[in-house]
Amino acid sequence: MKEFTYERATSAQRAAASAQETPGAKFIAGGTNLLDLMKLEIETPHHLIDVNGLGFDKIEKTPEGGLRIGALVTNTALAADIRVRRDYGVLSRALLAGASGQLRNKATTAGNLLQRTRCPYFYDTNHPCNKRSPGSGCAAMAGFSRQLGVIGVSDACIATHPSDMAVAMRVLDAEVETTDPGGKTRRIPVADLHRLPGDTPHLETTLAPGELITALALPRPIGGRHVYRKVRDRASYAFALVSVAAVLQRDGTGRVAVGGIAPKPWRDEATETELPRGAKGFAARLLTDAKPTENNAFKVPLVERTVAAAMNEARQP
Ligand code: SF4
Repeated sequence: MKEFTYERATSAQRAAASAQETPGAKFIAGGTNLLDLMKLEIETPHHLIDVNGLGFDKIEKTPEGGLRIGALVTNTALAADIRVRRDYGVLSRALLAGASGQLRNKATTAGNLLQRTRCPYFYDTNHPCNKRSPGSGCAAMAGFSRQLGVIGVSDACIATHPSDMAVAMRVLDAEVETTDPGGKTRRIPVADLHRLPGDTPHLETTLAPGELITALALPRPIGGRHVYRKVRDRASYAFALVSVAAVLQRDGTGRVAVGGIAPKPWRDEATETELPRGAKGFAARLLTDAKPTENNAFKVPLVERTVAAAMNEARQP
């Protein structure tokens, strides 16, 4: 691991300003992804800004009837919160489908959203990777791409976003709250937080330099049956090949976001009008622009089957 300096942030604005002022600075909270990447020297921050003392560890009701989840709330605490389990079941289920108990105890809400891809070549410095080293090429294109993306990808990168929680946040229309180095706050819909790779796969979010996530806001509950289905190579502690976060109403209408197939949680509200007619038409429209590799073409029919299974589950009494 390379040497770095360390500070404990005393306020959100101070943390954001320090991140902007210090070249090579990174925020650290749970560290469940960042520390692994630092040990492999894939991430080499010169300065770490520890935000754990900022007090963003509460889940509060909003005046609009939703929930405001502090950026530092652990995945375990969020999944167990009685309001989340009752009104946002898809979120609780998605969280419990991710990682392991030990990791969920440390991983935070903001860190979960900002975790990096698990593309095997991103972690293997013997191979070219445009995300790790811009302009070097993409070993996954002609390599092992079973886990990788089928839509929203580019000729420069076909990585997927690995988070389960983010897929549920997307289906719930969550928004991210941030503070910038000048102390200005804003809300960004989760739908707009992650960028598609294009020619710049190393740029992963729409956050400005130094901008710090302080919370996530959930709108008021929308009712319906909440389902999270995750298809993976083994029963636990594995990333999704395909996952489906669904909130379905009795009449068959609803919302569906898909994980494991794209650089961000994949949802297209316009295609949801197909849901009452079944999974086939919905999946076909959602994946119209899919460009799978030979290795991961199985994900296209798997999306349809996983959506169908989620719809069946939602119909159970
Ligand atoms: Fe790197 Fe993306 Fe290619 Fe994976 S898919 S090797 S992360 S550029």
